[in-house]
Amino acid sequence: MDLCNISVIRSLMADAGINFRKDYGQNFLTNRIIPEDIAEGCTDESDSLIIEIGPGIGCLTAELASRYKHVVAIEIDKGLIPILDKTLAEFGNVTVINEDVMKVDLKELVDKYSCGMPVSVCANLPYYITTPILMYLLESGVKFSSITVMVQNEVASRLIAAPGKSDYGAITAVLGFFGEARRLFKVSAGCFIPAPKVDSAVVRIDLFKTPKYTPKDEKLFRSLIKAAFEMRRKTLLNALSAKLSLDKEKIREAITSLGFDENIRGERLSTEDFVNLSDVLSQ
Ligand code: SAM
Repeated sequence: MDLCNISVIRSLMADAGINFRKDYGQNFLTNRIIPEDIAEGCTDESDSLIIEIGPGIGCLTAELASRYKHVVAIEIDKGLIPILDKTLAEFGNVTVINEDVMKVDLKELVDKYSCGMPVSVCANLPYYITTPILMYLLESGVKFSSITVMVQNEVASRLIAAPGKSDYGAITAVLGFFGEARRLFKVSAGCFIPAPKVDSAVVRIDLFKTPKYTPKDEKLFRSLIKAAFEMRRKTLLNALSAKLSLDKEKIREAITSLGFDENIRGERLSTEDFVNLSDVLSQ
């Protein structure tokens, strides 16, 4: 069964008595090359447990199941579960969980299913909740090898942006703490049903095996990034002194001690710069 064929998708959904749910960000892939390429490119370790978020009717799930050891697919829409039971019936290595991923204890899930295997995430993410899901994954405490996600192309640009570029934002600086992101390929809006308004891209994040940065005060490091980008039109000095209960002079000294002009904006600082700034400020 070609799960990217529009007639197949429509008839599976009609048989189950359901329709596309906009509130769940349901845009299903209709070009079979795309799930093949995503599955192929999501990790280099075939002996992996793959966590998929939002399997839909299972087109990517099937590609993952035929390449990797075990797939755990988390789908919020209970209307899709009977379809997945049918479309994935031939795979003995898929577990479907009907749950909102944001309510799943990922550590517990991985403990239960990984059996010591490397664990990666692979998903065509629902666009209404892309950043919260990414943050949830990164902050879960699970040692993922990689996280490969299809997101809106403009979000992809944000994830891979360099400091100082207009796309660079809080998520870029935070992501840089956990790993390195690269865009694998773009996907045009016409490859989905229903077609979204914008094009998409697949981004793969390779997580650092051992932490690249170890700020003395991780909470402070995170709040510096948050404050800097909440007020990105202000200078870093003004943004931090407005948002954090730190003495302005102390912030000025910390910024200049790192060799930056006191009027620099936060968007010019790399993840490493934010780590260094938090270390100076935490003294
Ligand atoms: N993987 C399919 C594909 O590529 O054609 C469907 C991708 S579609 C963009 C997003 C999927 O995520 C939908 O199946 C939707 O129901 C599911 N979803 C939305 N919010 C979710 C959540 N909070 N937790 C788990 N699944 C979710």
